[in-house]
Order: sequence, then structure tokens, then C-alpha cells
Amino acid sequence: MLASLEFALAVVAVFLVLGYFRLPILAWTLAAAALLWYLSVIAGFGYGTNVVLAVVFAALAALLNIPFVRRKAFTDHVLALYRRILPDMSSTEKEAIDAGTVWWDADLFSGRPDWNKLLAIPVPRLSAEEQAFLDGPVEELCAMCNDWEITHERQDLPPQVWQFIKDRGFLGMIIPKRYGGLGFSALAHSAVVMKLSTRSGTAAISVMVPNSLGPAELLLHFGSEEQKNHYLPRLAKGLEVPCFALTSPEAGSDAASIPDYGIVCKGTWQGKEMLGMRVTWDKRYITLGPVATLLGLAFRLYDPEKLISEKEDLGITCALVPTHTPGVNIGRRHLPLNAVFQNGPNSGKDVFMPLDWIIGGPEYAGKGWMMLMGCLAAGRAISLPTSSVGGVKALTRFTGAYARVRSQFKTPIGRLEGVEEALGRIAAHCYMMDATRIMTAGAVDLGEKPAVLSAIAKFHMTERARLCVNDAMDIHGGKGICLGPNNWVGRGYQMTPIAITVEGANILTRTLIIFGQGAIRAHPYVLREMRAAKEMQGAEASREFDDAITSHIGHHYYRFTSRLSAAFAFLADMSMLAMGGALKRKEKISGRLGDVLSMLYLVSATLKHYEDQGRIREDLPLIRWGVRDALYRAQEAIDGILSNFPVKSLATLLRWTLFPLGMSFRPPLDSRNHESAKIALEPGAARDRLTAGMYVPRGDDATGTLEAAFVAAIACEPIDEKLRKAVKKGKLVPRPGLDLGSLAKENNLITAEEYAQWSRKEALRKSVIKVDDFPQDFGRAEAAEKLAEKPLSARAA
Ligand SMILES: Cc1cc2nc3c(=O)[nH]c(=O)nc-3n(C[C@H](O)[C@H](O)[C@H](O)COP(=O)(O)OP(=O)(O)OC[C@H]3O[C@@H](n4cnc5c(N)ncnc54)[C@H](O)[C@@H]3O)c2cc1C
Repeated sequence: MLASLEFALAVVAVFLVLGYFRLPILAWTLAAAALLWYLSVIAGFGYGTNVVLAVVFAALAALLNIPFVRRKAFTDHVLALYRRILPDMSSTEKEAIDAGTVWWDADLFSGRPDWNKLLAIPVPRLSAEEQAFLDGPVEELCAMCNDWEITHERQDLPPQVWQFIKDRGFLGMIIPKRYGGLGFSALAHSAVVMKLSTRSGTAAISVMVPNSLGPAELLLHFGSEEQKNHYLPRLAKGLEVPCFALTSPEAGSDAASIPDYGIVCKGTWQGKEMLGMRVTWDKRYITLGPVATLLGLAFRLYDPEKLISEKEDLGITCALVPTHTPGVNIGRRHLPLNAVFQNGPNSGKDVFMPLDWIIGGPEYAGKGWMMLMGCLAAGRAISLPTSSVGGVKALTRFTGAYARVRSQFKTPIGRLEGVEEALGRIAAHCYMMDATRIMTAGAVDLGEKPAVLSAIAKFHMTERARLCVNDAMDIHGGKGICLGPNNWVGRGYQMTPIAITVEGANILTRTLIIFGQGAIRAHPYVLREMRAAKEMQGAEASREFDDAITSHIGHHYYRFTSRLSAAFAFLADMSMLAMGGALKRKEKISGRLGDVLSMLYLVSATLKHYEDQGRIREDLPLIRWGVRDALYRAQEAIDGILSNFPVKSLATLLRWTLFPLGMSFRPPLDSRNHESAKIALEPGAARDRLTAGMYVPRGDDATGTLEAAFVAAIACEPIDEKLRKAVKKGKLVPRPGLDLGSLAKENNLITAEEYAQWSRKEALRKSVIKVDDFPQDFGRAEAAEKLAEKPLSARAA
């Protein structure tokens, strides 16, 4: 009994292995023939039985291996069933799937990523002009920004900063030069946003939004010549401040369900009777909305009198509405977690506007969702991933410096293992995040619109920023908690959930988009199968479906180069097979599948970055920690999928097939974490490389002082060591109220120069560990007094 059970399991295992390697149908046929032969020998079948079995087998083999016969006998029936169970896709879902392109994600989904192809992609580089912009205007803008003044005192960017942003073309980085814009590459755009993010979140977001999904991007792709010629030069020069309003109180993540509407009708515009639309909307959370002069507006357009179309419901439509138009309400603000970039609601009721305000003109009525989805991938690849990397670069540099300057238990806290552990994590995440930023922006510059990879970058960069800022807060202790001009982490900590929520809230991005769209978009055959089922008919559908479904089983003729990628590809197929359409609702499973795909992407980016930078040995600990961490997380995700797989027996077999020797990936080593933390704690080339592209403060403000204190603390270490030894040997007895340095100088244990150096370091250190305090009423009374002194006219100004 046991032997036959073992035999049955062995047979299933062989067939799973065939599936795992995705061998062609012929290989399955040969395996089945071998099995039959084996059964015939051990069971001692008689001649007659053998002949009958051989005939049945030959018939089945012919049926499966001859395409025409297979289609008639098998594929067409599966196709009919597939058509019945395949959930219908809404047009908005279909437009989301069709938008964007597939790039390295297809390799990862194939289970055999071609590393040579990836490494042969040229290293993304900035042009001389782009670099000059970063070293000039961007550096200048960073120096102009004082984060406390912006976030607390003014709750806005100062007017001269706004003007500088507009005059220097920051709002028109993606606009081509022929329209007066800067015409920057995606990499340069990303480098600018990253650098600004290391200095002022408010400045970064104010610059980021007009260069992301919004009026400029939509006009570039879909605008009429007249619209482009009118608006693009004005946007490029900052004569227009744009915003894009999609979100409504009732429609957040489910943005396609916006209730805002327009009715095609006749009306009067500037004294003339014309065909137009009467639009009603109520939007919230709109960035730059309160100060915008040009409102990009998404609403659903209806044509009940069929004035411009045969259809009544034309669909989502995007228009450009000057905010001075009567009936447009803007100006009120939200306060998103003390972040003070302009953000607020806007609305309008029955506002009449000409049809040619539709982006692209009246022919583009109803094409808004397609337009938005088409443009989303590029913007999503840059904005949030990049600002998160900027934030983490600043955290790496400042937290490393602080952990070296701040001592407890007579030791710089960065040398205490618990702190080192958190710091090492920040440094290694920083490397992997920057690598992902560069690879994803590079893909956009290659002409890709990486829909799935941009979602991966958005989710994982913002989540890692959240992990890093939590670690950084812990390392700073009370210093990070008390807000004020001397706190460089608190505002970043407050703002982190904003990045998590916007451009696709993270839970939805992880559980619905990464794998959900990835499985359809990047999988080599699923989209073909779906298209054959839903969009084709007759013999064409039959042939396409047959080719896709047999390839689905057999496409993996080739050798695979990455074990985890192959495991992922197989597991993805088995999950789709076992759960079918229900997988879409099983967000816990598809979220984990998305995690595996994401980790593979992050590892790819990291390895490529390491190669592109010329394999710098000093950086190796960051790569080793990051890659091992990501592979371990991928394995954990697979473990989670298998533990929760609905078909338990299949899960056990899958576990044996995917991990015959057990789960072999281990978490990253403490020694690598130690080496990673060291990079953040030591001045030098590795630290500079890791935080390259950030604004390094040079002034005497809080972070400028921190940099100076860091350098001084390290330079002073030999003197501190002398003092420590003198105390230990009893040559120096600390006295209350007297500093150790002056005592040492009095006792000729250090020279006058050493004392001067030590005193400067101490002054800087004291300044760094200082936290801010305020009057009991936080200065309200003083501010009110000042306001009362001002004449009303001056106040209005
Ligand atoms: C500061 C800020 C700036 C913004 N700027 C703009 C802007 O300029 N223009 C604009 O149009 N909009 C803007 N938004 C809106 C932003 O895009 C939305 O907040 C976002 O789409 C989420 O919508 P919601 O906040 O209503 O959350 P909800 O949609 O209510 O979501 C709540 C939670 O449910 C989860 N969820 C929802 N559906 C699913 C699902 N199917 N599966 C799993 N989880 C799901 C989400 O992930 C989230 O965690 C901004 C928002 C903020 C806060």
C-alpha cells in the first residue's frame, strides 16, 4: 500500500517537475509513455492489455501533439469554458491593462531573465546641460529653502522661492525646448526632484507635480496644436500654475467612478452662443489646486441630446479650465500632516465652458481614462520613487553624522550594536532604492512606459522610505521628536504617509496592481489567451488560444538563469490555474506574488547598478545586504503563498518542487549590516557615493552644523582618546562645572591647538544635540500683537 502511495507521489512529482521546467507537450508525452511502460512491466499486463493501452496512448498522444486535432478535441472546449469563467473587464480596466509597456518585468515573469541583455543596457547618464542645472539653479534653490520657515512660519514657500521656481523653468522640465521648456530626460527630472527632496519636501512636491501626470504631460501626448502652442510655453515659464483634479470625496482609489459630470449643451460664452458643456464637480486633495491658474479637470461627459455623438454617456473626459473662469471655486487648503505644499479642494456648479477646452479637442471627449492611464506610468516611475530616495539619502547622511556626533555610555551611539543595526538597514536600503530609481528612470528614457515596474518602484520606494524614517527617528531619540528649526527628521517622518497614499494608495498598489496587472501584462501568454477569448472569433481565436495555451505549458524550453524567477513564474501559473478569476479577489495571495516580482526587480536594479558603477568593492556590503534581504523576503512571500494556498495537497507538492532541499535563502548577515552602517558613519567616497545627488548643506543652519560637527568629531577622536586614557590612568580627574578639555590643557596633557580644536568640536556637538523650545503659548500672543500693530491695508497685502 505504502509502496503504491510512494509511487503515485513520485509520478506526481515528475509531472510537477515537467511543469516547473515548462517542458513541451512532447516531453510530457514521452514521460507518460515511460510511465505506462513501467506499469506494464511491474504489473505484468498481458499482451491484449498492452495492445489496448498502446492504442489508447497513441490516440491520445496524436490528439495532443497534432495541432489541428488538439484544437478540435481539446483547446476549443477549454476556450469555451475559459470564455464563460473569465470575468468581464470594464472598459476602464481594459484601458489600464492596455496602457504602458512591458520591459524587464517580462523577463522576470518568463522565469529565465536574460542578465546579459540587462547589463548591456547603457548606463543612464545626465547630459552636461542637465548636470549644470543641478549644480546651478537646483543648488541655489536648495540653499534658498529653510524648511522651518516654510513649514511652520509661512506655511508656504516664500514668494522669492516661488518666483525662482517659475523663472528658472522648474515647472517645465518635461516640456520640450521648442515650447520653451527645459526638455529634460526622465533621469534629470528625477535627479532634480531627488535633490530638492533632500532639502525641502514642499519645494520638491511643488516642482514634482507640474512635471508629473497633469496638464503639461496630457497636452504633450494628446493636446491639439493650438492648445500646445498656447499653454506649453506659458506652463514652461511658470506663467501658468497647473494642477490636476481627479479625486472626489466619493471616488478615491476607484477614480474611474467619479460622480463629477458635464452635459453637452448650447450656451453663451464671451457673448457668443455656442456648443459647449455645463460642468459640475467637487474635488478634494488637489495638489497646487489652491494657487493654480490652470485646472486640469476630469469628469464624465454626457450628451443627452446627442449633439456631438451617437452615445449619451461619452465617458471620462479631461479639460483645461482657467481658474479665473466664473463659477470655479479654488483657494481653500487642506493641511496634510503639517506638510504645506499647496493642496486643497475645488468645485464648480454648472460652469459653462467651450468644447475646445477638452484636451485634444472635442474628438477626445470620453477618452480621458485612456489618456490618464497612458501617461500614468512615466510620472509614477519618477515622482514618488525619486522623492523617497531623496528623503532616504538625507536620512543616511544626517543620521550617520548624528550617530557619530551623539554619544551615550561614552560611545558614539552609531557604534552601539542596536543603533548600528538600524543605521546599516538605512544605508543598504538607500543603495537599493537609488539603483531602482536610476533603472526605472532609465527605462522611461529608453521610451518605455513601465506600467508594472513603476508601480513596483512606487510601492517599494515609499515603503522603504517609511522603514528608514522609522529607523532614523529611533536613532535620533528625543531629538527627532521635538519639532523646530533644529529637527531635520521630524517633518520627513510626518510626511511619509502622504507618499504612501498618493498616485495609487499602497495597499491597493501592492495587492491589486503589481501582480494583478503584472500577471496579465508581463506574463508571456496570459494576455494572449484573454484576447483570444474575448476579442477574437472562430478559427483565428482557436489558433491563437491553442498556441498560447500550449506555449503556456511549454514555453520554457530554454534554460533558466534564475532559480527564484523560475520558482515565481511557476508559482504564478499554478496560482492562476488553481484560483482562476478568484485570484483577483484573493488580494493576500496576489499581494505576495507581487512582492516576489518586486523583489526580483529590486535585485535586478541593484546588480545592474553595481555593474554600471564599475563593481566598486567598497560598496559590496550594501549590495550583499540588500540582495540577500530581498531574496529572503521573496522566499518568505512564497512561503506565505504556499502556507495559504487553497489546495493544500498541491501546495505540499509545489513546496517539494520549488524547494526540494528546503527554503535555502537566509536573512542578511549581521556582519554585512555592520559594514553598511560603517559606510554611513565614516566620511569618504563610499558615503558620498551612497548619498550622491543630494544637497549637502554648507551653511550654519541645523544640517550644515551637523555636517561640520560630524567632520569635527572624527578629526577630534585622537584628542578624545587622549582624554579618555588620562582619566582612566587617573592623570585627569573630571571636576563638576569644568570641561575636560580645559582641565587637560591646564595639566599640559593637550596642546593649545588641540584644545582649540576640541572646543570647536564641543561647541558644534552641543549645537547638534540641542532641541528647540518655545514660549508657553508657542508665540501666539507675540504674533497676534505684531498683527494688531500692522494697519489693515498692509495685512491684506
Ligand atoms: C496630500 C495629497 C495629495 C493629493 N494630490 C492629488 C492631486 O493632485 N490630484 C488628485 O486627483 N488626487 C490627489 N490626491 C488623491 C489621492 O490620489 C487619493 O488620496 C488616493 O487615490 C486614495 O484615495 P482615498 O484617499 O480616497 O482613499 P480610499 O480610496 O478611501 O482608500 C482607503 C484605503 O483602501 C485601500 N483600497 C482601496 N481600494 C482597494 C482595493 N480594491 N484593494 C485593496 N485596497 C484598496 C487603499 O489602498 C487605502 O489604503 C492626493 C491625496 C493626498 C492625501
